[in-house]
Amino acid sequence: MVKIAENKKTKYQKLEEELSIKKENAWKKTIASDNVKINKFCNDYKKYLDNSKTEREAVNNTVALAKKAGFKDLTTTTSLKAGDKVYMINNHRSLALAIIGKTINQPRLIASHIDSPRLDLKPFPLYEDSELAMLKTHYYGGIKNYQWVNQPLALHGVVITKNGKKIELSIGENDTEPVFMIPDLLPHLAKKQLEKKAKDAVSGEELHIVVGSIPIQDEKVSNKIKLAVLEHLNKKYGLVEEDFVRSDLQFVPAGKARDVGFDQSLIASYGQDDRSSAYASLQALLNAKNPTKTTIAFYFDKEEIGSVGDSGARSTFIEIFTETLLQKNKEKNTALHALYKSKAINGDVTAASTPMFKDVEDPTNAVTIGRGVSIEKYGGGGGKYGTSEATSEYMQYLTNLFDKNKAAWQTGELGKVDEGGGGTIAMWLSKYGIDVADVGVPVLAMHAPYEITSKIDMYNMYKAYIAFYNAK
Ligand code: MN
Ligand code: MN
Repeated sequence: MVKIAENKKTKYQKLEEELSIKKENAWKKTIASDNVKINKFCNDYKKYLDNSKTEREAVNNTVALAKKAGFKDLTTTTSLKAGDKVYMINNHRSLALAIIGKTINQPRLIASHIDSPRLDLKPFPLYEDSELAMLKTHYYGGIKNYQWVNQPLALHGVVITKNGKKIELSIGENDTEPVFMIPDLLPHLAKKQLEKKAKDAVSGEELHIVVGSIPIQDEKVSNKIKLAVLEHLNKKYGLVEEDFVRSDLQFVPAGKARDVGFDQSLIASYGQDDRSSAYASLQALLNAKNPTKTTIAFYFDKEEIGSVGDSGARSTFIEIFTETLLQKNKEKNTALHALYKSKAINGDVTAASTPMFKDVEDPTNAVTIGRGVSIEKYGGGGGKYGTSEATSEYMQYLTNLFDKNKAAWQTGELGKVDEGGGGTIAMWLSKYGIDVADVGVPVLAMHAPYEITSKIDMYNMYKAYIAFYNAK
């Protein structure tokens, strides 16, 4: 009998290895020293998430971290030279950071968005009913309404009083502070509600938040509980009812980012779409090693409602920022020409395969937790509507770059053809003739009050981004 070595591969085993794509769990390759780095990165990420629950907070927090790393306000900088680090805030809710290279021409861009689905207040939100003071909301972005009821909520945002005083609010994050809540209907009386379609079970007009229940002691006043809330807001913050009109106030899930799983391999937090990409691009920019190209990180608002408005990716901010860099670096070039044929990553999350809901995905093109960052050539929906598409040349460039830098990546599509789809900001970059693909982590329960990502995917996204910034 001839003894066959156990590890001897057959001809077709070898061919399979040579020809087929491998879908591997990225944890398989991690070693102890990687784990230290992954944990450090993810612990800092969780802190960033806790401090960045609105786009304004994300802007302030990002600027604070950038300033610590030596970034200066571009608007008050008179001239630039290679190596300079600058930032520019766009109307409180979006931001750009840059490290100046040899030229501003053809910069390296990573763009992400810092807005997340949430509950905004209506202009006149406060009313009283059934011995309760309530606030009426108008949801922002694509939410499943029923997920936001019976959920501890925190109030974040700013109010500008009539005389111009800016009040910044954050109520509900510390244990000593109250939270707010939308009460759902009890099952005993929910017969009709439970027969409704899930999208109608809790309507947009039913997302009202309980904020108080003690009346003032005066029989001559009719809305005693409402007035007690107004009295509290006035005593504590100097506000009157009309000030709601001058506010950017948002209700977001209360509480901190937490590890998930016995092995603590995952992170649950509000706002990981898309502050996961925002944080990774910030860290990649801060840790880039003297890039020759000018490297830029954009943090946009309003992605969740179509990238519109003055702070969205469709605004002129990309051009204004690039033009300001050109002027201050004394380059006789236009923003449009400088941006044309540059390279970009659209940092945005994608849907992770969920064991219970696999009927919405094409199994061979689904992205999963734990296989690294996902590179997606295009987004959009059925018929590839509403998306840009990276060229094969650019996909070759990015996949090679990530391989060379040992950033584990996977690829796929968001769901089955004709199942649904989603937009992102890639197309608003590609209109400038910028090469762009989506690169971000897969998320479980995207747009839910708590979304889940994988630490290994987060770390590989950071590795991919830093490789992109460092590339010649
Ligand atoms: Mn997103
Ligand atoms: Mn989203």
